[in-house]
Parts: sequence; structure tokens; C-alpha cells
Amino acid sequence: MATQFPIERFANLDTPFYYYDLQLLHTTLDTIVSEASRHDFVVHYAVKANANSRILTEVRNAGLGIDCVSGNEVRAALEHGFDSKKIVYAGVGKSDREINLALDADIECFNVESIPEMEVINHLAGLKGKVANIALRINPNVDAHTHQYITTGMEENKFGIGLWEVDTAALKAKELSNINLIGLHFHIGSQITDMAAFQALCTRINEIQRRFEEQHYRLSIINVGGGLGIDYEHPDEVSIPDFPAYFAVFAKHLELRNGQKVHFELGRSVVAQCGSLISRVLYVKKGQKKQFAIIDAGMNDLIRPALYHAYHKIENISSKLPTEKYDVVGPVCESSDCFGKEISIASAKRGDLIALRSAGAYGEIMASRYNLRPFAPAYFSEQ
Ligand SMILES: *Cc1c(COP(=O)(O)O)cnc(C)c1O
Repeated sequence: MATQFPIERFANLDTPFYYYDLQLLHTTLDTIVSEASRHDFVVHYAVKANANSRILTEVRNAGLGIDCVSGNEVRAALEHGFDSKKIVYAGVGKSDREINLALDADIECFNVESIPEMEVINHLAGLKGKVANIALRINPNVDAHTHQYITTGMEENKFGIGLWEVDTAALKAKELSNINLIGLHFHIGSQITDMAAFQALCTRINEIQRRFEEQHYRLSIINVGGGLGIDYEHPDEVSIPDFPAYFAVFAKHLELRNGQKVHFELGRSVVAQCGSLISRVLYVKKGQKKQFAIIDAGMNDLIRPALYHAYHKIENISSKLPTEKYDVVGPVCESSDCFGKEISIASAKRGDLIALRSAGAYGEIMASRYNLRPFAPAYFSEQ
């Protein structure tokens, strides 16, 4: 499903802005819902990928649950009408205020990342006379084969409870009377395209399950997190990730017990392809060895290239001229404010519209006001 850019409409708009193809989002959500229901899987949307109000409303209307990593994300979920029994809350550093907010909302489950956190949730729940459902986030020490900054499931990462203390944590959870351990949680990283990594995760989960059974736990939820990657090189040809193949890995390799539900937390794979950052060429600056297309979007609008050396496909959507090579750079006073070096795009002139594709996840939400630049607004294919 190729995104069609309404160039005439764009002509009247100030740049830069985010543009979301809602038809693509709908089709992606429909695919997720139908493929997950085939296996009776439950999907939560990882709101940190994109918390734009319109997007959240679409996700809620599709019936997904929501995965939060801060108190304000829990609040945003509630404000957008998500059922509190479909809200899960992870994060290594939950503050007391955030925990209290989630306790007051009676969320579905806290994904607990350390024994000290378990004790604090138990204490705060006790003060309110409540029993909080928790899942233990376990660091399975599985290599996701992705960028080191977005790998989360290795021993050296800060996330989750280490394999070496799983048994201690399971024992501890039994002692604490204001928490109820109902599940296990995993999330090994992001932009994972190698299905073997997910298969390795399943194998590890099966081993860990057996350890909990030795401690006579009956767990109702196995939450495998998110991380499914998208095709940044081919946003139009591969606009929807291969959800059937992804879910099939878990259906095939997880050893489930009676009544157990598998939960997923998908972020990038839901929203990345439906978003583009649209900007204009301000100047074409010729160097001795190269030329620069200086555009009016910067790293403050889309930080992924500067932060993770991430690739976003760049297109000149105003020009049908033969291609030339450019370093496509933003206006921010940092050398890392560069969206691509030696990129071939249709020959560019001042005023041409440039689309940075696959920017729907970790784009708008990571924007900053660096250099006192304003936040880019968002527009939608349906008004
Ligand atoms: C970020 C995150 C996700 C979503 O990851 P994606 O790669 O965007 O699918 C899921 N679960 C947790 C706990 C996360 O922190």
C-alpha cells in the first residue's frame, strides 16, 4: 500500500510537519487484529512509539490494549478511553507518584523490573488497601541482533530481572501480600527483523516457565513484548510488516499451559510506515566534492538518524527530474543533524518538498525544542 502524498494540499502548508496516512494505519491495525485473533493472542500498543492523539484514538478504536512506560503515558491512555484493564505499565524507574497513579487507575498489570520495585509497589498498594497484579520482566539474555542502543534483553542492559535472580524474585513475590504475580514479561529490543531472535526468546521463555512451575506458580500471562522490525528501505513495497510470520513463530515455539494468554506489545510495527516527515529544501549548497540539500526539518524534529544512525528513505516528492547525490542536512547547529550522506534524490531546488519516510514511530514523540525550534504539527490523510 503506497502512501499517496497530496502535493496540492501540501503546497499551502508550512513545513516541516508530520503527515500520517490513516488508510495505511487502518489496514495495518486490521491485519494485526485478524492475525492475532487467529492464535487468540492479545496485542497492546506500545504508546511510546507515537502518542499523537489521533493515532491513539485509532488504536483504541481497533480494540488494542496499551503498553505504557511512564505515568503520563498511563494518563494519556485513560484520557483516550483505553479500558484500564487493558493497560500494562513497564519501566525500570517508576516513581512513587507514577505507581500511585497506576494503582488508582486499577491497571491490568505492572511489568516489574527489579526486586526493590516489587517491594515499593507492594508497599504503596498496601497503603491503598489494594492488591496489584504484576508480571516480572525478565532479562532473558537473548541477542536481538539489532542496533546496540535498541537491544534491551542482554545481561549488560539495565532492563528486567536477571536470570540469576529469577528464583529469588519468585520467592519474594510469594512473601508480599499486596502484589499478585500473574505473568512473565520479556522485551528483547526493537527493529528486530531476524525471526530466529524471537524463536530463541521462545526457547528461553519455555525454560523460565519451568523454573516458575518448580515454585508452584501458575501464570496466566506470557508477555513477549514487542520489537518487530519494519522495512525502512521499502516503505511502499513493504508497508505492512509480516505479522502472520511473526505471530507464527510464537504459536509454534512457545509451550503454553492451560488457559495461558500470550501478550504482545507492538510499537514500531504498528505506526512507523504510516508517518512521514515532510519538509522543504531551503538551499542547495554546492561544495567542491559534494552538494548539500539543506532542508527545514532538523534533528529536533526527527532524531533517529542522529541518535541511532537510523536510515530513513528520503524522497523529493516535488521533482521528476533525474537523480543527483546530496548530503541531506537540517538547520540545527550540530554536525549530526544529517539525514543521509550521498543520497540519490530527484534533482532538488529551493522550495521542493522532501519526504522522510517511515517516520511514524519514534519520530514526532521524540521531537525536542533544541535551538528553540517549534514542534512540527501533524496532518492526516483524512481530515
Ligand atoms: C519500547 C517497548 C516496546 C515496543 O517496542 P517496538 O520495537 O516499538 O515494538 C514494547 N515493550 C516495552 C516494554 C518497550 O519498552
